[in-house]
Amino acid sequence: MPSLNEIRSTFLNFFERNGHRVVDSSSIVPRNDPTLMFTNSGMVQFKNCFTGVEKRDYVRATSAQKCVRAGGKHNDLDNVGYTARHHTFFEMLGNFSFGDYFKEGAIPFAWELLTKDFDIPKDRLLVTVYHTDDEAAQMWKKVAGLPDERIIRIPTNDNFWQMGPTGPCGPCTEIFFDHGDKIWGGPPGSADEDGDRFIEIWNLVFMQNEQFEDGSMRALDMQSIDTGMGLERIGALLQGKHDNYDTDLMRHLIEASANATSSDPDGPGNVHHRVIADHLRSTSFLIADGVMPASDGRGYVLRRIMRRAMRHAHLLGAKDPVMYRLVPALVREMGAAYPELGRAQALIEETLLSEETRFKTTLDRGLKLLDEALVDLPDGDKLPGETAFKLYDTYGFPLDLTQDALREKAREVDTEGFDSAMAEQKAKARASWSGSGEAADAAIWFDIAEKTGTTEFLGYDTESAEGQI
Ligand code: ATP
Ligand code: MG
Ligand code: MG
Ligand code: MG
Repeated sequence: MPSLNEIRSTFLNFFERNGHRVVDSSSIVPRNDPTLMFTNSGMVQFKNCFTGVEKRDYVRATSAQKCVRAGGKHNDLDNVGYTARHHTFFEMLGNFSFGDYFKEGAIPFAWELLTKDFDIPKDRLLVTVYHTDDEAAQMWKKVAGLPDERIIRIPTNDNFWQMGPTGPCGPCTEIFFDHGDKIWGGPPGSADEDGDRFIEIWNLVFMQNEQFEDGSMRALDMQSIDTGMGLERIGALLQGKHDNYDTDLMRHLIEASANATSSDPDGPGNVHHRVIADHLRSTSFLIADGVMPASDGRGYVLRRIMRRAMRHAHLLGAKDPVMYRLVPALVREMGAAYPELGRAQALIEETLLSEETRFKTTLDRGLKLLDEALVDLPDGDKLPGETAFKLYDTYGFPLDLTQDALREKAREVDTEGFDSAMAEQKAKARASWSGSGEAADAAIWFDIAEKTGTTEFLGYDTESAEGQI
């Protein structure tokens, strides 16, 4: 059974053999790209190659890219623990053509790798194409011999890929694997497509447009290819598993979490172990790439992920900090492929330990307050915004942590109430500053806050903290 490390190599070698330059993953913090919170796909570092602004000394590239989807257009934070296929941190394997081959190259490459090198049975695969893309549909028929009913035409944005609100984009074709009828879910485009029976493994994007902020779109001068395949998803499939969290690498992290909390990896706490394993990866990789916990911007997203993980450790009965103790297991699993992890190990451990130590007392007290509030809450009522705000303001509970806690109990937060409690506090802060010597500075500060504040330093509500920056 190939390990995730081996599968990563097979992928990169296949494309190297086929004339692609192997390019290192770029940082999770996109360089020179204020439109994006985190690198969310392999194409981010090549964005300017598609638009023609940047020329490199190669026209075909392949990479395994570190991705985080915990904010912005692609946000999977709330899926973690609930689906078999989503992480906040994952590796995206990709091949890219910058004005070199187009559909006629990308489709045969993908089919050959999947059915020959990876030896996946053809009758378990199906594809989607953008509904108007006859060319791609015909190519699938010709190259793969797929019957019409396994070439599904999708009219929605699922088959028109965009990195974010602006940038290069285009129609895409996606490849799905059928994990069999023991698992709930329908084929793509059907009413129960959100189930996990048919799992999307690979997206091939036909880059041919550029989207601008004003909503307009232009045709790019050249036609390019951008593909993305989740390593953990192809890994699950090739290891005969349905669930990403049952792959060798994720499993080792789950076992480390179980050991550290003296609990059963497969017991009722399994969901907590899954969340912890996932969040351990995203927090560690973010720190290794220079993000530090903060009360705004990217650092606040990091803090939110950390605190969510800490709540799950708490639910497993952990009395002492746990997350920092899991870092060696992660370095063991991924340090060879990503040496920056080992280099930053001490920093990651210290940061986790100090955050966890700081948050521990207020976490315990906040959860108690939350439990008490729920006892008094009539069935079907939302948690009052003021309570959620108190948890945020006094106990350091990010709103999404409270929401995550309530989701298990099928409850929600009154987010409007939360927002107005927040607004009230801001107004008070403003009033108490006026008249002091600092008033002028404060006025300027709030002015800037109002204009740019959607993420950079407020970052308190889900929408703003997860918005694009
Ligand atoms: P899904 O519909 O399952 O959420 P997606 O359409 O959002 O996936 P793409 O943006 O097309 O995903 O990304 C390309 C590939 O990256 C996907 O086909 C999948 O293999 C992988 N991928 C996407 N999101 C995740 C995630 N959160 N965790 C793990 N792998 C992912
Ligand atoms: Mg998605
Ligand atoms: Mg999809
Ligand atoms: Mg997709």
